[in-house]
Amino acid sequence: MSQKIRVTVWGENVHEKKIPLVGEIYPQGMHGQIAAGLKESGNFDVRTATLDQPEHGLTEEVLAQTDVLTWWGHCAHGAVEDKIVDRVQARVLQGMGLIVLHSGHYSKIFRRLLGTTCSLTWREAGEKERLWVCQPGHPIAQGLGTYFEIPNEEMYGEPFAIPTPDETIFISWFEGGEVFRSGCTWKRGNGKIFYFRPGHETYPTYQQKEVQLVIRNAVNWARPEGSPWIDTCPNVPIDQAPEKITQQGGSLHKAGEAGYR
Ligand code: ZN
Repeated sequence: MSQKIRVTVWGENVHEKKIPLVGEIYPQGMHGQIAAGLKESGNFDVRTATLDQPEHGLTEEVLAQTDVLTWWGHCAHGAVEDKIVDRVQARVLQGMGLIVLHSGHYSKIFRRLLGTTCSLTWREAGEKERLWVCQPGHPIAQGLGTYFEIPNEEMYGEPFAIPTPDETIFISWFEGGEVFRSGCTWKRGNGKIFYFRPGHETYPTYQQKEVQLVIRNAVNWARPEGSPWIDTCPNVPIDQAPEKITQQGGSLHKAGEAGYR
């Protein structure tokens, strides 16, 4: 099937408007730059959505038409309405891919899906970041060497309060000495989640080719696959069990009773 993957790039879009330096680096907004990096591949149908739009640009209709959602937020995590977080969570459980970028580690949706604080240590010194590829054969690492470097970045350090990842694709080393699990995957319900660390707003990180490549790879990896997740608990009547059985002992449920949520 050669159908294009439908990507929605969500951006908080606050720093770009309030901090001149960020607006200079990202004149089309950080979401605009991330979307531009995705559009370099012909395989994606890309749209953007921002916090200031009605329903933060994430209406039922938009999410129903989204295969993979990318998320960048920082200073306005608390302004994201809980009902939108509920909606995004439900779509991830159904099978929508989610790529959480940089300071999105503290977003409501990431913390909701992972169930931990997602806290970490940090420093802004514009130091070099070296991202080591831990799994060279993984689809998210395709096209990269043994490592790549970002000349100037914010430092994120361990401990990173996340559940143990299903897969650790990258580990970062920073010039100041810290290390960090900077590319991690999880599955929640039918949905794939990838956290990718780089992307501090005062550096042109999303203009870097390797970073754009990783995000493109991650979108391809996170696209929905297989059957929709079953989010109800249907009763399987005794006469429909795969093997013939007879009821033994008591049951509070009647034969053929409907499922419950
Ligand atoms: Zn940052």
